[in-house]
Amino acid sequence: MTREELERRVTLVRQELEEAANGRYPVPKLIAVTKTHSAEEILPLAEMGITEIGENRVQELLTKLPALRDSFRIHLIGRLQRNKVKQIVGDVCMIQSVDSEPLAMEIHNRALAAGKRMPVLVEISPAGEEQKGGVPFEETEAFLKKIAPLEGLEIRGLMAVMPLTEDREYLDGLFARTRELFDRLKDRNLSGAAMEELSMGMSGDYQLAAAHGATMVRVGSAIFGPRG
Ligand SMILES: *Cc1c(COP(=O)(O)O)cnc(C)c1O
Repeated sequence: MTREELERRVTLVRQELEEAANGRYPVPKLIAVTKTHSAEEILPLAEMGITEIGENRVQELLTKLPALRDSFRIHLIGRLQRNKVKQIVGDVCMIQSVDSEPLAMEIHNRALAAGKRMPVLVEISPAGEEQKGGVPFEETEAFLKKIAPLEGLEIRGLMAVMPLTEDREYLDGLFARTRELFDRLKDRNLSGAAMEELSMGMSGDYQLAAAHGATMVRVGSAIFGPRG
């Protein structure tokens, strides 16, 4: 893709986010999802004002890290195996996919060993798709209470991956429910579990997400084109 085309796409996504948020909510931060793309493809984004990117595989991230680390803050957005945590804990600005106590405990331990606190989001499962991971809606508060005392974690909010579907009404309902859960947990004011970030919305549904008050959207193919 040419630089002009890339810039055109980024501008379009930004405009659509602004329109969708419609003054009702702040415009969500655009996290460019750069998985499967090379550092050469990704680096021009820095000149377009993109400061944060998302990667979902540790191995791929480690390969590209030397070329990217000076230009971007990096979010780990995909499923994370416990034994990989130590490889990335010093290099990512946030882990968005915390959905189990053993994973939370590992991040806590590795962050403390590295002398830091790791910003994290708790991944929830809006459609109850168990195979995809994520904490079920009803269990989110109990899960937050369990991991909130881990001082190696800095809990910043929630992350959700919506199901792949063409049913906009169904999706609309899931985004609404997710925002409600976020607001409810925010009102609960749980100690050690700040509710500042709500990461939801991908290429197919970022406008809907912005309309429901996402604070970050994770957008890949709408910027880079469909993945091969
Ligand atoms: C790949 C991915 C995205 C971006 O998906 P697109 O549809 O390409 O925008 C967002 N979130 C997660 C967790 C992903 O794995």
